[in-house]
Amino acid sequence: MKITEVKTARVRVKIDGRPRYQYNYVRMYTDEGIYGTGEASHVDGGWRDSTRDMASLIIGMDPRDVDACFEQIRRSYIFRGGFAGLGISALTGIEIALWDVAGKAQGVPVYRLLGGKFRDRVRLYVDSAHTNYKERSAEVRERGFTAVKFDLDDANNPHKLDRWNWSVTPDELKSIVDQAFEIREGIGASLDLALDLHGRYDATAGMKIAHELESLNLMWLEEPVPPENIEALVKITRATTTPICVGENLYLRHGFRELLEKQAADIIMPDISKCGGLSECRKIANMAEIYYIPFAPHNNSSALSTVGDAHVCASVPNFLALEFHRFHDPTWDNVLDSDEPVIQDGHVVLTEKPGLGVELNEEFLTSQLDDGESLWE
Ligand SMILES: [Mg+2]
Repeated sequence: MKITEVKTARVRVKIDGRPRYQYNYVRMYTDEGIYGTGEASHVDGGWRDSTRDMASLIIGMDPRDVDACFEQIRRSYIFRGGFAGLGISALTGIEIALWDVAGKAQGVPVYRLLGGKFRDRVRLYVDSAHTNYKERSAEVRERGFTAVKFDLDDANNPHKLDRWNWSVTPDELKSIVDQAFEIREGIGASLDLALDLHGRYDATAGMKIAHELESLNLMWLEEPVPPENIEALVKITRATTTPICVGENLYLRHGFRELLEKQAADIIMPDISKCGGLSECRKIANMAEIYYIPFAPHNNSSALSTVGDAHVCASVPNFLALEFHRFHDPTWDNVLDSDEPVIQDGHVVLTEKPGLGVELNEEFLTSQLDDGESLWE
């Protein structure tokens, strides 16, 4: 089997006539008529050209040699983002398409090729940003979810020193802590609760906030500081019993190595459709497992990639929860051509269908294109 062609689709799904969610899909074609689809997340406008250039390096290769195709591109891109960043994110879309082809070619779901599954259903947690926590938690429970996340950072907090300073003033600290306690009280003790700081504080501020939240039994506190300085994270993680979760802006196994070796976080959250793909994230989860660190991937992608993520989450024992961003998105299920909703009772339900087990609804996606655009280019 040989890869013959790779095309891309950029679709801006509209809500009330306005573009709202941008999805970036990769379609890989082979000489045996089997095709696969992937999705790249958090890429920029250069992504389509990058994908085309990268794909030219694996035309003629066997797509079932997923890791070899991946390395063929990655090593050629060492000077152009082969270590981290946009290069890896574009490559990730290709990697997911490779897995879809590989599964279909062998007539098995991708999780079988990743070593089989530990679970049939993959638990989601609902990212809720700054929404009303009482309403949201009631809805979350009603729809079968068992975990939720809210944002605690607020760039417009009136008690901030200025917009660049990352320290926390006493009044800002009080407002953050009060908010966290109100959320926990409002949602009850039994929902798993994560709170996100988006890396917008300095190390002292991060430590103060983490310390104040210790009695809330959080699932995690996310990114008290930015992720680049492992020693700063070590300091915070060791100083508090609040579980610290980081990793949505790290890439490849290499990006997680020092973090794990130094146990600088209690939980990791790689973004599977951005930081290297299914193979790479399974390996990252396996690295975390030997430190007894749970794997709770970040995810802001469409239903296609969310299902792709679920194959990885099913294949590792230390999976905790996968992020779900589109709680009120009426178009969520429309992007897939499927008889059943992807999410049932707060979980992604995996099937025995080959490859990723889902196909894009091209009729819907085509209807979302701007005038003059075609789906696959
Ligand atoms: Mg986050």
